[in-house]
Amino acid sequence: MPPAPFRFPIRVTRPALPAMKRVHDHLNDIWATHVLSNQGPKHIRLERDLTAVLGTKHVRLLGNGTLGLILGMKALGVQGEVITTPFTFPATPHSIVWAGAVPVFCDIDRHSLCIDPGRIEALITPRTSAILAVHVYGVPANVVAIQAIADKYGLKVIYDAAHAFMTTINNVPIACYGDFTMFSFHATKLFHTIEGGCLAFNDRDIGKQIDLLRNFGIQDETTVLIPGMNAKLNEIQCAIGIEMLKEAEAERERRKPLRTLYMELLSDVPGIHCIRMPQGVSDSLQYMALRVDQENFGLSRDQLCKELESFNVFARKYFYPLCTDYPCYANALSDDVQNAREAATQILCLPFYGELGLDAVERIGKMIGYLGVKHRPTISCEPMVADIQQYS
Ligand SMILES: *Cc1c(COP(=O)(O)O)cnc(C)c1O
Repeated sequence: MPPAPFRFPIRVTRPALPAMKRVHDHLNDIWATHVLSNQGPKHIRLERDLTAVLGTKHVRLLGNGTLGLILGMKALGVQGEVITTPFTFPATPHSIVWAGAVPVFCDIDRHSLCIDPGRIEALITPRTSAILAVHVYGVPANVVAIQAIADKYGLKVIYDAAHAFMTTINNVPIACYGDFTMFSFHATKLFHTIEGGCLAFNDRDIGKQIDLLRNFGIQDETTVLIPGMNAKLNEIQCAIGIEMLKEAEAERERRKPLRTLYMELLSDVPGIHCIRMPQGVSDSLQYMALRVDQENFGLSRDQLCKELESFNVFARKYFYPLCTDYPCYANALSDDVQNAREAATQILCLPFYGELGLDAVERIGKMIGYLGVKHRPTISCEPMVADIQQYS
C-alpha cells in the first residue's frame, strides 16, 4: 500500500520565530526611544552577541548576506578575476560582478560538493585577485588547501558561509578561516533576522572600511570619504536577531534526532546517499541533502522530487540550475565543471526544521523507500559508499 500523503503541504523549511512576548518587550524599548536604525542599542548588542558565537574579533551586521559579500570584496580591494564555484546560490557569483570583478568558475569536489582546490591553480591568471568558496550545506570547503594556494599566489580568500552558521572544524569556528566570512540571516537560514547578514573577520582595517561602505561612506557629520552603500540593518530586525540567537542552539538540538532518523531510514534505500559531515565537523544542521543515483534508485532526482509532490512533500533542488548555465554567465571563464553538473542534477534537499518532528520525517523517509521499491530496477549494483574527506 502506498503511504498516505500529508494533509497539508510540507515545505523544505519553515522559519522559526521567537516568542512574540519577548519581541514585544524590544518593541516597547524602540517605541520609547524612537531609535530605529543607524547602529542603535539593539544593533550594538546583536553585533556583540554574534562576535561571541562566531569566534572572530570583529562582526559587522548588514542588510543581507549578498551586500556582505559585495562590500567585503570592496573592502579588500578585490578586482579582476575571482575564482568561485558554480554549485551555489546566484548571490555568490552575482556579488563578484557587483563588486566590479569577473567570476571564474572552478569545478567542485565530488564528495564535499565545495570548490575543488586541486583545480584552482589551473584557473589562476595575472588578473586573479581572490578565491570565493562556499561551505555547501554546511560541509566546510577545504580551508587548508585553499589558504595554501592563496598564500602561494598572493590571493585573498573569501567564504560564503550562508549554510554554515555555528559550524566548527575540530572545534575551530568556521569564520576563523579566510580574510572574511559572510553569514546570511535570511528567513530560511538556521539563524535569521528575517532579512540580514554579517561579515566576520579579524582585521581591524576591514572593519573600518565596512563601517564606511555600509553607511554611504560617511565618516562623520561633515566628512563623506567614499561612494558607500546603504546596507544597514534596522533596530526591529536586530531585536528579532537578539531573540533568535538565544534559540539557535536549541533549534540545532531539535534538528539532530531528525537528521539521525532520516539517515537511518535512507541508509537502506539503494541509490540514495545522504550528504555526510566529515569527521571533526560540527555543522549548522541547516539542510538535509541527499544524492539520488538514478541507476540504483530507479527514479531520477527530478522524478523523485515530482513524486514527492504528489504526497504533499515539497523538496528543493538546491542548487539547480548551475550558475554556469545562467544566460548571464554563458560566456564566463570556466573549468569543465563536470562534478558540479552531476551534483546539480542529483542533489535534493528534503524538508528539514525543528518543528517538522520525528513522525513527519519517518513518513517522508518511508515515502522515499516506497518509491524506490516501486521503481527500482531488479538488479542493483550499489557503488561503494563515498570516502569521506578528512580534516586535520
Ligand atoms: C542564502 C544564500 C546567500 C544570500 O544571502 P542573502 O542574505 O539572502 O543575501 C548567499 N549564498 C548562499 C550559498 C546562500 O544560500
